Amino acid sequence: MKCGNPKIIIKRKQSGQTLCKSCFVESIQKKAIKTIKQENLIDKGDNVLVALSGGKDSVATLDILNTYKERNIIELCAVTIDEGIANYRNDGVAIAKKHAKRLGIEHKVVSFKYSFDITLDEIMKNPNHRISCSYCGVFRRWIINRAARDFEADKIATGHNLDDEVQAILMNYLEGNIDNLTMIGAKTMSHSPLFRPKIKPLREIPEREIGLYTIAKDLDVHLAGCPYAQESFRGEVSEIIKNLSKNHPTIMYSTLRGFDKIKLALKKEHKHDFQFDTCIKCGEPSSNEICRVCTFLDELGKA
Ligand code: SF4
Repeated sequence: MKCGNPKIIIKRKQSGQTLCKSCFVESIQKKAIKTIKQENLIDKGDNVLVALSGGKDSVATLDILNTYKERNIIELCAVTIDEGIANYRNDGVAIAKKHAKRLGIEHKVVSFKYSFDITLDEIMKNPNHRISCSYCGVFRRWIINRAARDFEADKIATGHNLDDEVQAILMNYLEGNIDNLTMIGAKTMSHSPLFRPKIKPLREIPEREIGLYTIAKDLDVHLAGCPYAQESFRGEVSEIIKNLSKNHPTIMYSTLRGFDKIKLALKKEHKHDFQFDTCIKCGEPSSNEICRVCTFLDELGKA
């Protein structure tokens, strides 16, 4: 306990620390600020685009970055992607709009339907569809990247938390995907002038604590889970990590720290010359003649 307030809202299993509401909120903000400073995520005058789904992670990211906006250190804007998932996405979009309005932040909602003339639900009705998250991830990145240029943003902030980051490390190890491993980190640098660097201020904060932060700060968030989530490999990996964490509460931190130590060596050993050109169909950066978005759209008959 830091301040003597006996009303404890969290006991951190990993450190044994107990905190009241205001000390907890302060600790989360300090942790995010420490990551921002240590990893040099933000420069004064940056225009930062937040990928705002309306879920707890993106709402907490917006809330914490807004403290920088209030001190006139950065400009903020936000984009919400509507994948077209019935009975799921609309609520998230409404919450995202509410937060952007409340904070006076310029905000855009961009749908798969508008961008690609097909919703994720329609894609999943195609008998030859791939796993839902494959389309979702690729299409979302394409939209966010375009939105960043439209907003003239310098950085794109995402709500990736400690759990997400450890899942990504483990998934890529298990799949032997070294290219992807070398790109995991607090700041993903751009390999093309058409890409904006991505930053993850919440990278060292466990998912559970971000949820608690939004409750402690009374922030409205979209809690429903995506109906397609069970299809993902990430879901399986997440279960493994959760089970391990029960008896080994520091395991996510040790995985992240260990990975950050070997990452530089990995990058050196596994030099990848990213040769980004532009897709001959859509003009977005692509290491192949045709980017993955256009390849997927071809498969779906939406050239
Ligand atoms: Fe998209 Fe998969 Fe996330 Fe659902 S779980 S929103 S399909 S990435």
